[in-house]
Amino acid sequence: MTVPKNVDLIILGAGPAGLTAGLYGARAGLKTVVLEPKSPGGQMLLTDDIYNYPGHPDGITGQHLANLFLEQAQKYNCEVLKRAGSTTLQQESDRFIVTAGDRVVQSEIAIVATGCSPKRLGARGEKKFSGAGISYCAVCDGNFFEGLDVAVVGGGDSALEEAAYLSRLCNHVYIIHRRDRFRASDACQCLIRGCNNVSVIWDSVVEKFEGDDLLENIRLASVNGSEKRDLKANGAFIYVGQIPNTSFLSDAVATDPDGWILTNERLETSVPGLFAAGDVRKKEVKQVATAVGDGSQAAITAEKYLMMKRCNAYPGEVA
Ligand code: NAP
Repeated sequence: MTVPKNVDLIILGAGPAGLTAGLYGARAGLKTVVLEPKSPGGQMLLTDDIYNYPGHPDGITGQHLANLFLEQAQKYNCEVLKRAGSTTLQQESDRFIVTAGDRVVQSEIAIVATGCSPKRLGARGEKKFSGAGISYCAVCDGNFFEGLDVAVVGGGDSALEEAAYLSRLCNHVYIIHRRDRFRASDACQCLIRGCNNVSVIWDSVVEKFEGDDLLENIRLASVNGSEKRDLKANGAFIYVGQIPNTSFLSDAVATDPDGWILTNERLETSVPGLFAAGDVRKKEVKQVATAVGDGSQAAITAEKYLMMKRCNAYPGEVA
């Protein structure tokens, strides 16, 4: 069995919350490791340009911002293990033991910053055409649809931001939304207002995706089921929300019914010594800026917890 490497702080996930927690942990003098199953950056990597992260008045690409976050954390000796493979987290007495691929690390405190993943729509044909016309990432796959007609499903910030991105590449972008108004913020709605190759199909849902080997047609139904229509499209980008990346957590960590981790305002979870930061926790606003706030808060709380614990004085034992 691999001997676990001892560190002060383990952070699971290298998105904006995890890398910020890594920066703060390392700068506080903690031996800090961030484990990332894929590439560092989290959902920043799925975003073309980010215009609402302060300090970048002309916007910055998600990839560039992710690189800067990583560089800054590493500059202070935060160890970032990239493409570390899938993760398990166990608790043994007062230690957390994390395995990621063939690596095993242990610490007295850990921060879960594993973010979330795109939710599947659940329509017929979705699985068959995933990677053959259906995508969950316009920045990753938009180029395959240059000059073609595509659909975007959803009415939130992600759907509208990505529809605006696709409008620069594709011939026409249809937004399919199940209501008669968007959930998206005014700022994101504004992005599509000036696009003359974007149109909205209101009050409609996808019944099924059709084609031979590649997607060719989307069968739509009005929400009340009274009307059906076919929409010819080569691509469909699904943005119908997110699910938290928490499958590796034990039942001891309290979540809401949908799996989002519950924390207090100090970002403590129901398990002493375990903290959560960023999109993986239950919270209303999910932005790079709020993930950064979470990362710094979680690392500061975690560091205080560790110091108090080592003085045998946590919680509430200080005079
Ligand atoms: P979201 O806000 O949850 O929106 C999901 C959209 O998909 C909603 O319009 C919803 O319709 C629709 N939907 C859900 N299930 C559906 C189904 N089964 N069939 C058809 N439509 C369905 O998700 P998101 O857009 O991914 O955003 C997630 C979070 O990230 C939000 O907090 C958002 O503000 C944030 N975000 C911010 C930015 C930014 O500020 N630049 C960019 C991206 C994301 P209803 O409206 O009818 O519920």
